[in-house]
Amino acid sequence: MKERGLLIVISGPSGAGKGTICSELRKEMPNLVYSVSMTTRDPRVGEKEGINYFFRTKEQFEELLAQGDFLEYAKVYDNYYGTPKAHVMDLLDEGKHVILEIDIQGAMQVKDAFSDGVFIYIVPPSLSVLSNRLNGRGTDAQDVINKRLSLASSELALAHRYDYIVVNDILDEAVEKVASILRAEACKISRNKEKIQDIYKQYMTKE
Ligand code: 5GP
Repeated sequence: MKERGLLIVISGPSGAGKGTICSELRKEMPNLVYSVSMTTRDPRVGEKEGINYFFRTKEQFEELLAQGDFLEYAKVYDNYYGTPKAHVMDLLDEGKHVILEIDIQGAMQVKDAFSDGVFIYIVPPSLSVLSNRLNGRGTDAQDVINKRLSLASSELALAHRYDYIVVNDILDEAVEKVASILRAEACKISRNKEKIQDIYKQYMTKE
């Protein structure tokens, strides 16, 4: 039987650079896969169905929610976001490491259900850097940006509930830090029981 993959939860304010960090990580670590969330928000320019999100109506989302199809969900900025459960479970069973890029409300639900998940909080170096990034992105209206900035400040107070915090000042360094965290987590004794038994058997059968 394969060891289960890591369930990796990455949170942080919009504009912290989570998406960029995750796509860089996947270039370095081919065993990483990305869980595609479902949302009721409108697609941004360039976003694609099934790649960035599964875009659904509020009614469709609520129906799936009632069926218990989500691993976690949250209402963020007046829209629903959720992680479809079945696909994530299958990937973990196949030994893949699965990244969930989700908000703090969802992360805490996952933490209750999966205490052995790896919880990483990505933070921009300052609120002014975050504000510049959100304005520079040019994808959101000013009132949306303002909401995101005030939510960022209040969420930061909960960052201590994660296992790791990574400041995304210089992208390459932030990616390396997250990669190091994942490599170390994958080597934990508690995650390698089968491997230890195999190694033990090899040592015992050697003359
Ligand atoms: P955005 O609208 O910028 O794509 O995402 C807004 C926020 O929703 C981000 O903080 C993002 O991490 C979070 N988010 C995206 N997908 C999910 C999800 O499946 N569950 C939860 N709880 N949050 C999500």
